Amino acid sequence: MGTDDHGTANRRPPGVYLDNQATTPTDPRVVEAMLPFFTERFGNPHSTTHAFGWDAEEAVEQAREQLAALIDASPREIVFTSGATESNNLAIKGAARFHRERRPHVVTLASEHKCVLESVRQLEREGHRISVLPVKSDGLVDLDLLAETVDEETAVVSIMAVNNEIGVIQPLAEIAEICRDKGAYFHSDAAQAMGKIPLDVAALGIDLLSISGHKFYGPKGIGALYVRRRPRVRLEPLIDGGGQERGLRSGSLATPLCVGLGTAAEIAAAEMAAEGGRISALKSRLLEGIRRRLSGVALNGHETQRVAGNLNLAFEGVDAEALMRAMPRLAVSSGSACTSTAVEPSYVLRALGVADDRARSSIRLAVGRFNTEAEIDEAIDVLATQVARLRSEGSAAAE
Ligand SMILES: *Cc1c(COP(=O)(O)O)cnc(C)c1O
Repeated sequence: MGTDDHGTANRRPPGVYLDNQATTPTDPRVVEAMLPFFTERFGNPHSTTHAFGWDAEEAVEQAREQLAALIDASPREIVFTSGATESNNLAIKGAARFHRERRPHVVTLASEHKCVLESVRQLEREGHRISVLPVKSDGLVDLDLLAETVDEETAVVSIMAVNNEIGVIQPLAEIAEICRDKGAYFHSDAAQAMGKIPLDVAALGIDLLSISGHKFYGPKGIGALYVRRRPRVRLEPLIDGGGQERGLRSGSLATPLCVGLGTAAEIAAAEMAAEGGRISALKSRLLEGIRRRLSGVALNGHETQRVAGNLNLAFEGVDAEALMRAMPRLAVSSGSACTSTAVEPSYVLRALGVADDRARSSIRLAVGRFNTEAEIDEAIDVLATQVARLRSEGSAAAE
């Protein structure tokens, strides 16, 4: 076994993890609940002829109930998938393809996750009419523009609940009302919202909701799609086979992962309110600490309409990539993408109309369940020190 600093040894990589919007550690309580289903309780939940199958099926159905309870849905409205990428593909392509004759139109926002945007692009190649709407400078949907865009030919409107880069919370109930008026389905990618804000699909008027296990302390490789039953939402499946998950997602369910997702939902339901307060306090400590030590720090995205753990900050005059290289023990990210020729600034920040140089100086800090005050203080110190150093080097070079 390796013993270098990059986690090849069987231990936690060094440093402070503030990238909880990329993924979260699996809660140890979740891991514990999953373990028996790898070994003793290994049955195929679709085996109906013996106790091994019944046992696994019961566990899967309990997980479905736990997940449904968190969003005030019926367990029969939950379809297990491999994650939010698959859920988003199934919701958007599934709805658009089912209704392609009478409703060939699909609507989304420019600030959505790539898997939503690419699903919509694929539908365009298949002949659907698509509208990818700009967002306001605070990252929120322009409701007037949305109302003008959605029409009687719109099959589905896909707008995320919480943005993965800037943490803003979209006005879900208002969006739902616009969709309902025109008979379009409202799909929401809730990968970043689950366990952070209440998501009552009935009260909010959401027809399709995507969930990812690993964004809220569950395992990677599992997610779910909520599919409303009344009035019934019709989808064309992406995967054909044995007809599991009401024909919408064939394939044997991964019992341990389902159990993990259900347990993560159960923990979120019990702890969301208290956890929100704790994470919000840590986030404020982080922001205040940074602002006490540095000037020229700006927040991207709406000031208040946002989830507790997210900060997307622009450090004036500092290149985010250089900053991250200078802080190898602080796990944060930028939304930028490397192309063959250059580092492209975040398309989400661009969608907000953030200038390129500000986008290039922005990083995302995402506080999560397992962060401590000591870690926040360490992060403040590292950030303040390196930003100041890079700024003084920058001005020295300019002289
Ligand atoms: C992480 C994420 C996804 C993809 O989820 P996976 O479960 O990793 O496929 C989709 N949308 C958003 C907003 C995300 O944050």
